[in-house]
Amino acid sequence: MSITRRTFLRLCSTLALAGCTRTGRDYTEDDREALAQQQIAEALRSGSGPFGPMVFSGYRDLARLAYFKLAEDGRLAVNVDLPPVVDCHAHLGWSYFLAPTVDLLQATPRTQYLLDCDAQDPPCELDLDVYVNSNFTDAMLSTLRWETVRTLLLGGRAASTHTIPNLLAEMDALRIQSAAVLPIAVALPFSSDPTLHQLEAIDRAKVRHRLIPFASVHPSDRQGPAKLQQYAKRGVRGVKLHPEMQRFYPDSDEAMAIYAECRKLKLPVIFHAGRSGIEPEFLRPYALIRRLRRAVEEFRDVPFILGHAGARDSEQAAELARAHDNVWLELSSQGLTRIYELCRDLGSGKLLYGSDWPFYPQAVALAKVLLVTDHDERARERILGANAFEILRLSDAA
Ligand SMILES: [Zn+2]
Repeated sequence: MSITRRTFLRLCSTLALAGCTRTGRDYTEDDREALAQQQIAEALRSGSGPFGPMVFSGYRDLARLAYFKLAEDGRLAVNVDLPPVVDCHAHLGWSYFLAPTVDLLQATPRTQYLLDCDAQDPPCELDLDVYVNSNFTDAMLSTLRWETVRTLLLGGRAASTHTIPNLLAEMDALRIQSAAVLPIAVALPFSSDPTLHQLEAIDRAKVRHRLIPFASVHPSDRQGPAKLQQYAKRGVRGVKLHPEMQRFYPDSDEAMAIYAECRKLKLPVIFHAGRSGIEPEFLRPYALIRRLRRAVEEFRDVPFILGHAGARDSEQAAELARAHDNVWLELSSQGLTRIYELCRDLGSGKLLYGSDWPFYPQAVALAKVLLVTDHDERARERILGANAFEILRLSDAA
């Protein structure tokens, strides 16, 4: 098969291969400095917050917390009563381009997380008090990049374990009632529609009561708004947009057309928001929180959920959430003290539990929310499920 230069450049950009493109002009030295400072400050203060040091030997060691135990099959299980839990951020196996389609209905013995602490020998140190990706070694991060490229191009070993039965088994052990599953539409040739692929799998597995389907379109797709109407008819409960992976500015006119359709269809939008610090620098301009302001101000009746609570830009994300009634923060990946501060400063009504499964086990973010809400049942109820029930309008879901 011949790959044209245009296709090649598109691949480069989508797969984040450094050197294909330069960072945007509006990405300033201050932006770079803020990210570097956040990483240094976080490392320095780890363990000095209200919970003290919270370091575990891999994921399974979370069983030392009173909330968990190790079940007979070796997986982490919840040990305490929980209010209804909705995981607002999960993904099913991706397959794009030439990758064979992942059989989403297949159970496998073990889920291979994209950052797989327990697969290391010895397991990697898991510090709950830092942004989660700080825990991983350079070798693990390079495996993650390779797996991502492989998954997108050829199909990955890991992706074939990111299936509905595997997700449900983990949800059952952790008493998670439902999970929002978020596809991401990328501009790659030969790729099937990830929203439809997911919807069909959820329906074939008859698990609408557990998995909440989201949609994704690419803002440059002129058919985007029309596709959203079709997806809404099929029962999706929200739209996922990933400015870095999809390479678009969330304040561009083409993105505005997507939010306008979401307003008509009463669908909330969840963004991957903020810089994670492990992406190539040329993608970072797309993730800046200031790029979200136009959307949340022009579409005040569209609920916007900022994934990862703005990642390493969570200060700016918190400002945006504080200033706008239509902005919420989803907590996956944030460190324990940061979640405590967000809850203290913004209130539990602004926060949503999410795990980013299968990057990490669902128990990692769950452990942090349980620790932060240990003496506050109401906050626990809101963050773990009640807010999601309202924002995703789950009570009127089919
Ligand atoms: Zn994610």
